[in-house]
Amino acid sequence: MGSHEKDISVLSAEDQLAKDVVRELVEKGIKLLALDFDRTIVSVHTAGYWKQGTQKLVEHVRPCFRALMKEALESNLHVCVVTYSTQIALIKDVLKMALVKSNISKLIIRGNSKEWLPTSNISDPPLGKEQHLACICTELFNDKHVIVAAHEILLLDDDDENCDIAREFGHQAFQVPEGVTMSDIAQYVKMLEVKKILPCPS
Ligand SMILES: [Mg+2]
Repeated sequence: MGSHEKDISVLSAEDQLAKDVVRELVEKGIKLLALDFDRTIVSVHTAGYWKQGTQKLVEHVRPCFRALMKEALESNLHVCVVTYSTQIALIKDVLKMALVKSNISKLIIRGNSKEWLPTSNISDPPLGKEQHLACICTELFNDKHVIVAAHEILLLDDDDENCDIAREFGHQAFQVPEGVTMSDIAQYVKMLEVKKILPCPS
């Protein structure tokens, strides 16, 4: 308890804001926080071919997402990374280094790998991160008997198409702007109204 109190006393303004954001998300009924990786958690796009090493990529982790993920991992939220990148081991190492004090075993990383690949046909409509999210929801149910409804998912992604698709599927989505700060995220969360949105019939 003593060390916990000490942690609170040294909270930066950003950490405090992240704490408020996470509390508000939980209060508003979000259960699953899903983050894109390239140009969202990190400010660069690795294109799945990052060759400059883990440490160099850790330097590109945006401070607001470091703070947000740290707080989210300490909360009741389920946290996941949804990415098209194939460099899953690299992403895991980057987040392990960026979030040294966090329990990242709680973090589900779903990217394209030999074990899992989103299936797509040219004729399919774009599915954004839907297959990733469906896979994660199944895993949460199988492992923890947690049921996550569509409207209880918040996607943070720099790609507007991924955000539009997420909204079509009834999720909440925040399009991460270039140079995003914790205040931007806090402002979005303040405005967020989590309503059950039924997907449009196709
Ligand atoms: Mg991205």
